[in-house]
Order: sequence, then C-alpha cells, then structure tokens
Amino acid sequence: MTMSSYESLTTESAVSLVKKLGLFAQSESLSCQEIGDGNLNYVFHIIGKEKSVIVKQALPYAKVVGESWPLTLERADIENRALRLQGKYAPDYTPKVYYSDKDLAITIMEDLSHLEIARTGLINGEDYPLIAEHTGEFIARTLYSTSDFAMGPQEKKKLQNTFCNPELCDITEGLVFTDPFFDADTNDFEEGLRSDVEKIWQDTALKLHAAQLKRLFLTSGDALLHGDLHTGSIFASARETKVIDPEFAFYGPFGFDIAHFTANLFMNALSRPESRREPVYAHIATVWDVFNREFTRLWKEDNKEAFARTEGYLKWLLADIFEQATGFMGLEMIRRTIGLAHVKDLDGIADTETRLEAKRRSLSIGARFVKERRQFSTADELVEAFKEGL
Ligand code: ADP
Ligand code: MG
Ligand code: MG
Ligand code: MG
Repeated sequence: MTMSSYESLTTESAVSLVKKLGLFAQSESLSCQEIGDGNLNYVFHIIGKEKSVIVKQALPYAKVVGESWPLTLERADIENRALRLQGKYAPDYTPKVYYSDKDLAITIMEDLSHLEIARTGLINGEDYPLIAEHTGEFIARTLYSTSDFAMGPQEKKKLQNTFCNPELCDITEGLVFTDPFFDADTNDFEEGLRSDVEKIWQDTALKLHAAQLKRLFLTSGDALLHGDLHTGSIFASARETKVIDPEFAFYGPFGFDIAHFTANLFMNALSRPESRREPVYAHIATVWDVFNREFTRLWKEDNKEAFARTEGYLKWLLADIFEQATGFMGLEMIRRTIGLAHVKDLDGIADTETRLEAKRRSLSIGARFVKERRQFSTADELVEAFKEGL
C-alpha cells in the first residue's frame, strides 16, 4: 500500500490525502487540527459532516527534542501492524484501522474523541469502573494469542521476526532500565530529590536487581507486547476502553504490559487524597484477577504446547509472570519520577512539599517492589505493601 515517498503532513495535505483515499467526498468541507500531545508523532483530527478520522504520522525525529534526535519511521509500520493484530485478538479494546501507508508512516484510524485519555480522567477524579477488567482482557488476549502456546513454534517465530523494533526497544532499555540508576544526562528530577536519587545510584543491591530485570527484557520473547501501556495510552469512559499507541510493540516478557498499567495506577493513587485511593487499588486487584482468569481460559481452550497439561506448569508460569511484573512495575515507578519522561499525576501536584513527598514514596515503594518481587504473590499483597510505604 504505497502512495508516495515520505513528507510530513500539514493540516492541508492531510485533508487532501483523506479525500484522495475516498474516506470523504472531494466536495465536503472538513476541519483538521493537529492534536498530538505525545513526543514523537503528529496526530491530525479530521472532522466532516457525518464522520471523523484520526491520521497519525510518525516524524523522522522525536518531536520533543527536535531534529537532533532522529528516530526511525519504521515505528509507524510497527504500530499499524500491532494495531491490526490487537484488533484481531481484542477487537473491543482496539481502535479500527482504516488505512495505512508505510512510506508516509501513517495510520488512519477510528476517532476516539468521545472518550478521554485515562490519565487525564484519573487525575480529575474519574474512576472508570470497567477500565481494569477491559485492560486485563486486552493484555491477556493479545499476549496469549501471540505466544508459542497459541501459535506454535514456527508461526510465532516468523511473527516475532517482523517485530524487532530495535530503536524503540533501545529507548526503553535506556530510559526505563538503565539511565535512572546512573548519573545519566537523560535524567530529570527536582533538586529536592537529589539525596534520594544519589541513594539509588549507590544502592548496589537495587542496581543488581535492575540489571536482572533488564536482562529479562532483553532476552525474553514470550509474546507481542504493547510496549508502552501507561494510562496515557488508554482512552476510557464509564463503559468503554480502547488501547492506542503500540509503536513500542515487540516480542518481550509476559509481565511487562500489566506492570506498566499497574505502576501508573499506583502513581495516580499517590496523587490522590487518601479517601479517593480505594477505586485505584481495586483496579490493581481486578486487572490481575482478570489477566489470570483470561490467560487460564485461553490456555485451556487452545494450547499447542505438549507440556500444557503437565501438573503445575500453568500455576508456575502465572506466578513467574507476577514476579517479573512486580519488578517491572517498581522500575516504572522509579523512572517516571527521576528519568526523562514523567507522569502528570505526580508532576501536577501543586504544593511542593506534598509533591516531593509523593515522589519519594514512588521511589521507595518502587525500589521495594523491585528488590522484594519474589516475596509477593497476589495483587492484594502489593496494595498492602504500597500502603505500608505511605
Ligand atoms: P504518541 O505516540 O505521540 O504519544 P498517541 O498515539 O499517544 O501519540 O496520540 C497522542 C494524542 O493524540 C493522544 O493522547 C490523543 O489525545 C490523540 N489521539 C491519538 N489517537 C487518537 C484517536 N484514535 N482518537 C482520538 N484522539 C487520538
Ligand atoms: Mg502516546
Ligand atoms: Mg499521548
Ligand atoms: Mg507513542
């Protein structure tokens, strides 16, 4: 599906494109706005009389840094192919893709503007009663369906080879797993946290755990991950949930996506008054219950692994996923506090002392999850440990 060679779209050329593709009539008058709040891409919102679409285009550099940080356009193709697979395995939770063009690095998809980015809603006090149930189903279905268990060895490896994504994995390996543990240029923290951060840099035990978790990320090829499943990648309402932005998709460890979702929920809890935290804690328990339930259902329904019925295997695997996820969750809490990319939940706390205190909790609780990940076996225990750390 090749249209032309790459050029970055403008609001005018985006409109011409959707008309040329027949998504709208030539004569229709359309409004078009660039609404991307992300760091890496353009997002055009095009509205006609009866319908609307989103055109997402990758830029050949990271928008946040400018042309000094070149970044492969391949990621648009990765995102488009990941969206189509996620749409196959979890259609209720994935935006529909109408069109994609690898050379232009665009995906044209369903407009989800009737929903709200979950991070924004959670910060404004929304609870989204179904978000954890839906996200647990999304993660279990997309991961299980792309694993060896569902696909068998050959089909899985062929698919895995098409999701190598080296440049975006490199970003995660640096920003999540490495830089926060060293005095790296990419780090970004408030001066009031300096002594806490220096303690992390000197904590050899913590660094050894980070190295072990990084190695898991580097070497596990369990399933096609979303790769960036924070609450800013989820559109939600009281009834609906849609997961967007899988440009970091690649074959990695089963525990990674659920870890990022739950870490971002814990950081949202830190930003709330105590009386408003229970719904967030309930989401953490629910997403794990649903993930385990759904993964187990799929395992029993269709499994190409000869050991599938071997006593104890599924139980061991779910426990192993929980342990790695607990570690990844802790790392996400640390890097979102002192690394390059922060979360608005914490940065948005207006009072300086309250904000610094919340960030210290994110660091200390995150470090405990990393170091003691083997000692936790249920989501309720994670919530208990989180409360102890407050
Ligand atoms: P990035 O990869 O740059 O983070 P995202 O895919 O997260 O890009 O999109 C950035 C923003 O654009 C989202 O936070 C949302 O506001 C808007 N957006 C993205 N996709 C859609 C969509 N399908 N419908 C409506 N708005 C969208
Ligand atoms: Mg995004
Ligand atoms: Mg965004
Ligand atoms: Mg993105």
